[in-house]
Amino acid sequence: MAGKTAKRPCEADLEALRQRIREAFPPTAYKGEVTACRCAECNQIKRDFRRKSWDQVSAEAIDLTESPVLFHEVEAVHAFLPAFLLRALDDLDEKTTVLEMTIYSISPCTEDVERRSDSPEFEQMRVTRLRRLHQMLSPSQLRVLRDFLVFAGDYSASADWYRPYISRALNEIYLEAEPDEPS
Ligand SMILES: [Zn+2]
Repeated sequence: MAGKTAKRPCEADLEALRQRIREAFPPTAYKGEVTACRCAECNQIKRDFRRKSWDQVSAEAIDLTESPVLFHEVEAVHAFLPAFLLRALDDLDEKTTVLEMTIYSISPCTEDVERRSDSPEFEQMRVTRLRRLHQMLSPSQLRVLRDFLVFAGDYSASADWYRPYISRALNEIYLEAEPDEPS
């Protein structure tokens, strides 16, 4: 997906979105397991994320993990999502796959999943997890996810490819978010 150069957002808008993500997700140490899987990849992920808050995880660990969808526990997805959102915003040219995989992880669109596999069980699990994540998000978290998706649609290198994922996510989940309260 990478390769093309994105049109650049205004730096002030980008920083404002970063700041709203940080405020919507106050960092707290995640005490649970991120995944029950014991494969080598998951063991590395456990080491990288164990007992950390999202702002303590290294960029390298985020790049290796690619998206919070690898965490089996939805609580872990919720706890570390802002780290992936912020890393994705640092890489709108998409030298890494963090932005791509993070969009997939918060969109109900199944286009690529259907193309790659015909596993209804996997798809059902994905939808169930997304619904549970949605229930855990506060109104301000929903709003920043909506704005992240709109921003990615405007400025990421592969925005054309993401259009169905972003529009389904906005229509089915994130447009329900209420407008910002005056602060
Ligand atoms: Zn594993």
